[in-house]
Amino acid sequence: MDYIMKCPVCGHEVDMFDICDNCDYKNSGPKENLDGPTGPNKMTLREAREAYKEGKKIV
Ligand SMILES: [Zn+2]
Repeated sequence: MDYIMKCPVCGHEVDMFDICDNCDYKNSGPKENLDGPTGPNKMTLREAREAYKEGKKIV
């Protein structure tokens, strides 16, 4: 069963450990740290939020 959570970057609803439809960030679940480990993304959560705010693509 899927667990829906809010994307830590944009707040859009996303499945846990899945890629956000809105911003492309792949979340690492509810205990994700702001400064990593980065996991499946090249950016940390902090960098991803910055990028999203500036309208840049999250990688
Ligand atoms: Zn998102």
